[in-house]
Amino acid sequence: MIYPPRCMGCGELTEADFGLCGSCWRDTPFIGGVVCESCGVPLLGEADGHRIECDDCMKTPRPWRDGRAALLYEGKARSLVLALKHGDRPELARPAARWMAQAGRDLFRNDILIAPVPLHWSRLLKRRYNQSALLAQHLAREVGLDVCPDLLVRRVRTPVLDGKTASERAETLSDAIAPHPKRMHRLQGRDVLLVDDVMTSGATLAACTRACLAAGANHIFVLVLARVAKDA
Ligand SMILES: [Zn+2]
Ligand SMILES: [Zn+2]
Repeated sequence: MIYPPRCMGCGELTEADFGLCGSCWRDTPFIGGVVCESCGVPLLGEADGHRIECDDCMKTPRPWRDGRAALLYEGKARSLVLALKHGDRPELARPAARWMAQAGRDLFRNDILIAPVPLHWSRLLKRRYNQSALLAQHLAREVGLDVCPDLLVRRVRTPVLDGKTASERAETLSDAIAPHPKRMHRLQGRDVLLVDDVMTSGATLAACTRACLAAGANHIFVLVLARVAKDA
């Protein structure tokens, strides 16, 4: 396009199309170094060749195999995620998907199917787009893998889960998410990479994972734009 690239953090013109100007880049909490294999949160210490997990994932074992996150959900990253989700700024998805491609590089394997966490249609009408589907589509293009934007659907509208206990969340979600009846054949015996914008407790991703496994998928992996970390 002929528009000069602008920083998605502050709107200033930037030299290159990396999404952020130098100062916003420095202020954005990108995750690097040693991370939890299950949720991607950064951990202290050094890799010793064994699987490393955070306290959260040891306490609540994840039904998926491995997970990664591009950003810590705080400061500038939080405002970017909120702008993508509620601010009607779909153009943020492309650079965000690039960061996810970088963070998730250990997860990509041949024939893995990328699929977003679904949004109920009533929320879709209000927001105009499913930010997770948008991230999944840009990610698939970035890494050259298949994507199925409606692999999973929400059968009932689930209430906002903030403030609920883990068991309340799991119960609310258990029957809400299922594979699209017409997409069932796509996940048979196949590895699936679930994509979402934010991981908080992981309850929604766990419900999506169980739905895929119950329908015959092989291994499930998760990749999110931002991970909420308790003690970050
Ligand atoms: Zn900036
Ligand atoms: Zn973890």
